[in-house]
Amino acid sequence: MTTEEVKVLIIGSGPAGYTAAIYAARAGLNPVLYTGGQPGGQLTTTNDVENFPGYPEGINGPQMMIDLQKQAERFGTKVHYGLVTSVDFSTYPLKVVVDESKTVIAHAVIIATGASAKYLGLPSEEKFTNRGVSACAVCDGYFYRQKDVAVVGAGDSAAEEATYLANLCTKVHLIVRRDEMRASKIMQNRVLKTPNIQIHWNSETDEILGDDSGVTGVRLRDTQTGEKREIAVQGFFLAIGHKPNTDIFKEYIDMDETGYIQVLPGSTRTNVEGVFAVGDAADNVYRQAITAAGTGCMGALDAERFLASKEVEAVH
Ligand code: NDP
Repeated sequence: MTTEEVKVLIIGSGPAGYTAAIYAARAGLNPVLYTGGQPGGQLTTTNDVENFPGYPEGINGPQMMIDLQKQAERFGTKVHYGLVTSVDFSTYPLKVVVDESKTVIAHAVIIATGASAKYLGLPSEEKFTNRGVSACAVCDGYFYRQKDVAVVGAGDSAAEEATYLANLCTKVHLIVRRDEMRASKIMQNRVLKTPNIQIHWNSETDEILGDDSGVTGVRLRDTQTGEKREIAVQGFFLAIGHKPNTDIFKEYIDMDETGYIQVLPGSTRTNVEGVFAVGDAADNVYRQAITAAGTGCMGALDAERFLASKEVEAVH
């Protein structure tokens, strides 16, 4: 196993990780960033980001992440492709293992691992993953052009995915478990105004149906009457929220019951000295690119102050 020693290690490559990298690099801390399994994070699965300040016409999500990486590298961040597979925060300096083959000794760690899409937990969902079941309309919608698909969920993600798919697909069935949607009014209005989206209110997914060709339909259950009915679809998209990617830290870091890292209010400090948490991994409330970027900045400033207090100078 090879070993590398760094002042600031950033784990994750979404808006939080790259913003932390930009600030840490500009502070002369020579940050090293490991991208994780999905370089660029969740915004790489988004089409247009319309709510990030400074882009009056919106910006393409993957492009924004390429730009953020370039900006971080411009100031000297070393960006490596690799997945952190375990950590040992029981001693200082902190130890992090990448791809089970490299140990990184870090004087400060900024966790920016984000969150991942949730699944319903149906066996049929697992059976048809990548054969009709997807958690990313922007990634996979293209395969369902001129076909009928279903989207499950009722938040902004579901509204966004349904509207996106409606441009590609013949028909989109939106499966909503209550009699109202949680999505913001503007997103709901877009859904309601799109003629080829049909909303199935008070409906749960009982089973995803399919055969050797992949998904062929969905069996819905009416939450009021228990009545079941089937709709024919070739694609089934999940948009029911996210789970933080924090499992590898749970032995050491305080979290809530869902796995969101708890930070000292008004800071990014965790219960372990020298470990900071930023972005969606520590935010179950706002979960926006702009708030992730904001806490990424905070994480770098907190790490900088921490290292100054420790007088960590000699590591490059
Ligand atoms: P949310 O947590 O907001 O919504 C999840 C939705 O999934 C809810 O409507 C929930 O139903 C439903 N759901 C959860 N579990 C199940 C289940 N087992 N079966 C059926 N339905 C289920 O997640 P989102 O990913 O939509 O949004 C997360 C955050 O990101 C929000 O703050 C949102 O505003 C933001 N966002 C913003 C966007 C934008 O501005 N462009 C785009 C996408 C997200 P119920 O309502 O009944 O609980």
